[in-house]
Amino acid sequence: MKKIIIAIDGFSSCGKSTMAKNLAHEIGYIYVDTGAMYRSVTLFALRNGLFDSEGKVNTDKLRDRMKDIHISFILNHETGRPETYLNNENVEQEIRTMEVSQHVSLIAAIPFVRQALVAQQQQMGREKGLVMDGRDIGTVVFPQAELKIFVTATAEVRAQRRFDELRDKGIPADYDTILQNVKERDYIDSHRSVSPLCKAADAIELDNSHLSIAEQQQWLMKQYKKAVE
Ligand code: C5P
Repeated sequence: MKKIIIAIDGFSSCGKSTMAKNLAHEIGYIYVDTGAMYRSVTLFALRNGLFDSEGKVNTDKLRDRMKDIHISFILNHETGRPETYLNNENVEQEIRTMEVSQHVSLIAAIPFVRQALVAQQQQMGREKGLVMDGRDIGTVVFPQAELKIFVTATAEVRAQRRFDELRDKGIPADYDTILQNVKERDYIDSHRSVSPLCKAADAIELDNSHLSIAEQQQWLMKQYKKAVE
């Protein structure tokens, strides 16, 4: 069967990664979570004091340090899922904290950061057989992707899902703070000057506010089958 590139874009916390991960697992494709890459750069910046007291990024210092940031994904054989490594350290949990979520959209709006990460993402897709999720995958990273999905859900539904996910992992969380963060990230992600979040003209839209994970999985599998026919 022909191998394709599947681009899954959409707003924060709308279940893109669950969809993308499950599909990749089922069809034997590689899964890449590009949000994890922006989160890893953010974690690096936080750990290295590259945000000032007002929360602004020191872009000159970050530009100099980009060469020291190496992000990779390594399969966890117990869960069968890839995990994120920053300079050979497993940061899969640490990149999901509220502190990282509150700073990541600023890092993701910096042109040289996007340029570096987009180049790595394009490299990962050279052999196809890839499901990639993010904000600009169908528009910038792989405008030629054979299947493009754009996922939406209301901010309240998304905040609740994020809250449940953090609680299940034992990470302390507050619903109102999460809702505010989801709305802020929507705003910054859709209004930034470089690669703003927007639906590619040829993407298929899915509002999953009222769909179960199983229902959305079935829907996605149908789209995949159509695309490889
Ligand atoms: O997908 P996730 O919520 O983990 O992404 C974290 C942040 O990374 C987003 O809010 C967005 O600012 C940024 N991002 C991006 N482009 C991507 C993936 C994520 O700008 N392709």
